[in-house]
Amino acid sequence: MDRRTFFVLLGVPGAGKGTQAKMLEEHLGLPQVSTGDLFRYNLKNSTSLGQLAKSYMDKGELVPDEVTIQMVEDRLGMDDAARGAILDGFPRNLMQAEAFDEMTAPFGGVSLVPLITLSDEEAMRRITGRRVCRSCGAVYHIEFNPPSREGICDRDAGELYQRDDDSEETVRNRLYVYYKQTSPLIGYYYAKKLLAELDGGLSIEQVQGRLMELLAEKEIA
Ligand code: ADP
Ligand code: ADP
Repeated sequence: MDRRTFFVLLGVPGAGKGTQAKMLEEHLGLPQVSTGDLFRYNLKNSTSLGQLAKSYMDKGELVPDEVTIQMVEDRLGMDDAARGAILDGFPRNLMQAEAFDEMTAPFGGVSLVPLITLSDEEAMRRITGRRVCRSCGAVYHIEFNPPSREGICDRDAGELYQRDDDSEETVRNRLYVYYKQTSPLIGYYYAKKLLAELDGGLSIEQVQGRLMELLAEKEIA
C-alpha cells in the first residue's frame, strides 16, 4: 500500500494549531494544510471560492462542507503532499471527518490526532493578540511571541496585520461553533484510538517538545 502520514491537529481557535503545524512542517517535511489559510489565499486572489468563504468567515461560521472537502481533496492531490500532510483546521465537523477518512483510506487513513487543549479565556487572549504576516503567513502574538520589530515579519519583512475575524465578538461565535460542531471529533478519534492530548497552555517550545515526544513514541518521526 502507498502509506502516507496524516496528522490532524485539533483544538479551539487560538490553541496553537497553526504555530505547531508550521514547526512540524519544517521538522517532518510534510506540508501544512490549513483550510483557513487556503480560504484566505482565495480571498486575497478574489476567487469565487474566496468570496463565498468570506461571508461565513466574517461571522465565524463554517464554510459549507462540500466546497471545503473539495478544496482539501484538491490540495492533497498536489505533488508536495505525496507523503502526507499536517491538517490544521480540517476536519471541523463529523461530515468532514468521514469524508477525510474516505479520502485517506487508500493511504492507511489518519495517523494521529493531537488535541491541543486550552481554556476559552486563554484562547481569547491569544486570538485577540494574534498578528499574521501578509506575505508569508507567519504567526506572531503581540505579547507571547512578538516579532523583533513591531509590525514587521522576522522571516521576510512582510507587514503584520490582524485578521478581520480575530475580533472579540467573532471569536465568541467561533468558540461556540467549535464546541457544537468540532468537539464531537474528540470522541470520534478517541474511539479510533488516534487521539493524543497535549496541554496547550504551555509555552510554544514546550508544546513542540511534547509533540516531538509523542511522534517518537508512535514511531512516526
Ligand atoms: P482558527 O485556527 O483561528 O480557528 P482558521 O484560520 O482555522 O481559524 O479558520 C478561520 C475560518 O475559516 C473559520 O472560522 C471558518 O469560517 C473557515 N474555516 C476554516 N476551516 C474550515 C473548515 N474545515 N470547514 C469550514 N470552515 C472552515
Ligand atoms: P490556531 O491555529 O489554533 O488558531 P495559532 O497557532 O494561530 O492558533 O496561535 C494563536 C495565537 O497564540 C498566535 O498569536 C500565536 O503566536 C500564539 N501562540 C501559539 N501557541 C502559543 C503558546 N504555546 N503560548 C503562547 N502563545 C501562543
